[in-house]
Amino acid sequence: MIPVNFDYVSPSTLDDALGMLADGSAKALAGGMSLIPSMKLRLSAPEKIIDLGRITGLNSITEAEGGIRIGAMATHHEVESSRLLREKCPLLAEAASNIGDVQVRNMGTIGGSAAHADPAADYPASLLALEVKLRIRSASGERVVDAADFFVDTFTTALEPGELITEIHAPVEEPGTGVNYQKMVQPASGYAMVGVAVRIRRAGGKITFARVGVTGLSGKAYRAVHVENAITGRAGNPAEIQAAAALVGQDVESNSDIFASAEYRMEMARIYTARAIATALARTA
Ligand SMILES: Cc1cc2nc3c(=O)[nH]c(=O)nc-3n(C[C@H](O)[C@H](O)[C@H](O)COP(=O)(O)OP(=O)(O)OC[C@H]3O[C@@H](n4cnc5c(N)ncnc54)[C@H](O)[C@@H]3O)c2cc1C
Repeated sequence: MIPVNFDYVSPSTLDDALGMLADGSAKALAGGMSLIPSMKLRLSAPEKIIDLGRITGLNSITEAEGGIRIGAMATHHEVESSRLLREKCPLLAEAASNIGDVQVRNMGTIGGSAAHADPAADYPASLLALEVKLRIRSASGERVVDAADFFVDTFTTALEPGELITEIHAPVEEPGTGVNYQKMVQPASGYAMVGVAVRIRRAGGKITFARVGVTGLSGKAYRAVHVENAITGRAGNPAEIQAAAALVGQDVESNSDIFASAEYRMEMARIYTARAIATALARTA
């Protein structure tokens, strides 16, 4: 289908873009991998598109103040291939490498994916497990939002009209942290039927730190705190991993669609959670 008519502008500065977005009637265009399909399906019909693609510096990935700052316009490919991220925040690079295909990874951006908040998108599980902070700007100011407060519901975030994500602040992993992202791929779309991101640390034979982010299972990505609490303090043997992973869907309503019933998806979430914990633990050395 063809989208309804719209105006297109391509500002060269962030301030210009924010000014154009200020009245809430225009939409930002990043990689267009979600916005353009939804416009073609007429699920979205913005009067004006503000293309962020000509604004320089919005895709940088740098280390600063003990963390890593990832520009919102960094493409999935730039995230997956960043040497800095691979060395110091490998979970994000691993999640990015699981997204779609080469074309999608060359065009789609981390900011666009976070803002779109697709419940089956790959990044949100890792953004939650990493407890990232999202820097958000509008024509009237700036604020920083924790990942836990950002993903509000299906395709719904804490972003207000006129606001743009400019940066994502991720931690530099402490030495010895094991991470893993496990994804059960939906065979038609490539999105996550279930995706589980894990960060884990072990000291003195006991797990001292665990963060588990889940996508695909329910209407929005979430932190599986019951799993985190159950595995912390344990040695991490297979029985303990299974027992903790069994809690992944506690307090969560599992999605059900033509591809997977709620029961099947829940069972897959348990299996993929156990795999992600076991793989992350094996990487803690
Ligand atoms: C064939 C195909 C397969 C895919 N497979 C996967 C997959 O396996 N896993 C997965 O996670 N995703 C997948 N995607 C989605 C892809 O990751 C998109 O790149 C992503 O969802 C949106 O990023 P974008 O940069 O293209 O944003 P756009 O499509 O340009 O924008 C999406 C939304 O975010 C808003 N937006 C964009 N940037 C910002 C910003 N900086 N601040 C505030 N709002 C902003 C836009 O206004 C729009 O509402 C797939 C897409 C396609 C077409």
